[in-house]
Amino acid sequence: MRIILLGAPGAGKGTVAKQLTDLDGSVQISTGDILRSAVKAGTELGKKAQGYMERGELVPDSLIMEIMESRLEEPDCKKGFILDGFPRTIPQAEALKKLLKKLNLKLDLVVDLDVPREVVLDRLTTRRTCSNPECQEIYNVKSKPPTADGKCLKCGWKVVQRDDETEEAITKRLITYNEKTAPLIDYYKKEGSLKTISFTSSQEIVNGITGAIKKK
Ligand code: ADP
Repeated sequence: MRIILLGAPGAGKGTVAKQLTDLDGSVQISTGDILRSAVKAGTELGKKAQGYMERGELVPDSLIMEIMESRLEEPDCKKGFILDGFPRTIPQAEALKKLLKKLNLKLDLVVDLDVPREVVLDRLTTRRTCSNPECQEIYNVKSKPPTADGKCLKCGWKVVQRDDETEEAITKRLITYNEKTAPLIDYYKKEGSLKTISFTSSQEIVNGITGAIKKK
């Protein structure tokens, strides 16, 4: 599968992406995860991105395209990829279109996960993430808690709240989403590749996506 997942922060893109990759060996590409690992490792990219991320602003398109140009050429993308958190602006979508053309690849589907604002707000404030850059498993203090002493069930690293999951940064991320990323819904609608899926379980979302691809 070659898919783009659109949707507000907290819409469930990461969870759905992981379930999709289990189906056919495609890879999840999360620009957020790549950037967080870079910040943690203190690389040049991480240093450039950190401030924007902590404020809940978007990292400049040029940095994101640098990451994606090399990422999509890696051999593990051969079986397909689920783009989670990219593209996030119209210029990124335009640049992706050119890049896919150059690589001679076609997308199967663009999915918009449409989740009510109350749900995403609740999810973001209760979300916790494994601090192991290789794992980044997602937890929720209410519905999917880590161990009693706050450790990841998969790898044993500490489970933490992300730096951009303060109330202030969350509000900013939602505003940024509405201003910069929501216009992509119309962009892909016009291209004829969009499927909107309303708020439901992640399994139902996965079924909706695989069903829509089969129908094509
Ligand atoms: P969420 O979808 O929950 O907001 P992500 O993990 O996708 O979280 O992104 C975290 C932060 O990383 C964003 O707030 C932004 O600063 C940066 N980021 C991630 N992907 C992109 C992108 N495609 N373009 C610009 N900034 C990005």
